[in-house]
Amino acid sequence: MDAVKKAVAEAVDRVADDLEALSRHIHDHPELAFEEVRAAGWLAEFLDAHGLVVERGVAGVETAFRATIETGPSPTIAILCEYDALPGIGHACGHNVIAAAGAGAGAALAAVRDRLPQGRIQVIGTPAEERGGGKGRLIQGGVFKDVDCAMMIHGFDRTLLHSDLLGIVRATFEYTGRASHASADPWAGINALDACIQTFNAVSMLRQQMRPDCRIHGIIGSGGAAPNIIPEYASATFYVRAPRIDAMWELYTRVVACAEGAARAAGVTLKMTQHDDVYEPFKRNQALLDVFAANMRAVGLAEGPPCGDRLASSDIGNVSQVVPTIHPWIQVAPEGTAIHTREFALAAVTPLARAGLLAGAKAMAMTALDLLADPSRVKAVKAEFAAAQGRR
Ligand SMILES: [Zn+2]
Ligand SMILES: [Zn+2]
Repeated sequence: MDAVKKAVAEAVDRVADDLEALSRHIHDHPELAFEEVRAAGWLAEFLDAHGLVVERGVAGVETAFRATIETGPSPTIAILCEYDALPGIGHACGHNVIAAAGAGAGAALAAVRDRLPQGRIQVIGTPAEERGGGKGRLIQGGVFKDVDCAMMIHGFDRTLLHSDLLGIVRATFEYTGRASHASADPWAGINALDACIQTFNAVSMLRQQMRPDCRIHGIIGSGGAAPNIIPEYASATFYVRAPRIDAMWELYTRVVACAEGAARAAGVTLKMTQHDDVYEPFKRNQALLDVFAANMRAVGLAEGPPCGDRLASSDIGNVSQVVPTIHPWIQVAPEGTAIHTREFALAAVTPLARAGLLAGAKAMAMTALDLLADPSRVKAVKAEFAAAQGRR
């Protein structure tokens, strides 16, 4: 097996310049959620050229794809790519590196096809991570139905094998009252903005009773038309985040109660819209992390300092709830460079990012090899997943 691993690493090195070019190409043409037509096209072309069987537009999502290498019926190991950008600041989350690393892992495994143990490798293109939750649509479309293990690397300012991801549920509250002259006839009005502000006050009080690993944050979308009119309409959007699904829905119910109570107090009607892009918390799988960790070390990646309470969310959380999944962070930017900044966007095409891309591609390809070579590993990963199912 070690000889095959070595061959896989060499295969990544052989296409290193192409992968860097692919990464830069995606970086220089940022596309937003569900609009990643060019990025998905370039990735699919690259994988097709390296001999994978490519399906485009899987699960009815135009910018999703699946590229397969098949040497037997099972197990199926998925390597995920993201490639959407952020409005205004482009590839400030470095998804260009994720995309090229996933494509590189696929190409390297295809290069050793004749020596692959039985199984299936799928490089899956998953659009719309930053908003919209593309992975949720792919799950609903059955894309992960036959997948045994999934992995993806994400760029960061340090290398970390694992970091928890919070689940997130979003809601918009719309309050409708009655307009009136704010000086001549204020008593004739019903103040929708009061209800909106009261919701924020109630949520602020709720925060004291909240676990420190939960987050609630909101904005006012509409707060009235003019100061001399009692606002007849106001709206707010809140994000509610928690590290476990049950805790997330429990906290969400309490935020909804804050809005309902505020609406009642102000005498307005409340319309509540829960957004359908729920991001679930990340479910950790140590057995799968252990396989990756050994390969991470083998390609020379060392873990950086832990991140403490800096907690984000991703739709890979949804994948982790249906199949065993890992989401290691690989350094592509100098330590202290925060994601979603212009500095991170610049870092995502530097030599450091190239090094992270290649190391990430190798570690993922080698992990896939380990899983194909030893079915007992896949069994252990799935047993841990099943045991954790009841207490997620
Ligand atoms: Zn991001
Ligand atoms: Zn990201």
